[in-house]
Amino acid sequence: MSTTDNTNTENVELTDEEWRARLTPEQYAVLRQKGTEPAWSGELLHTEGSGMFTCAGCGAELFPSTTKFDSGSGWPSFFRALTDGVINEHEDRSFGMKRTEITCARCGGHLGHVFPDGPAPTGQRYCVNSLSIDFTPDAD
Ligand code: FE
Repeated sequence: MSTTDNTNTENVELTDEEWRARLTPEQYAVLRQKGTEPAWSGELLHTEGSGMFTCAGCGAELFPSTTKFDSGSGWPSFFRALTDGVINEHEDRSFGMKRTEITCARCGGHLGHVFPDGPAPTGQRYCVNSLSIDFTPDAD
């Protein structure tokens, strides 16, 4: 598997205390403690329309709405990130599985996992916790 570790000169590095102040307890549990929200619970699961999904921790632009698809998994799913540089990938062997964790390259926040069973054109499925992201609709 590939592991990426993008460096970003604008990295956001906060103390644990600052993260707790910035995030809700639910966001903190996912973004900073690698938790997983219950399937089908996410507010952005069925979000449609043109816009950008951003990191709920630092505001980095992560997934254009044009990359979102209905995976049937119960979590917001995307077939491609905005650019290769906005996401880092890490081997995750927790819970007896071999998965690829995805994190925000700017703040290190846990987003979810990426699986090689997505749709064309990439074949990738970025499975993202709704708690890890916000949605900004395009101005029209
Ligand atoms: Fe971030």
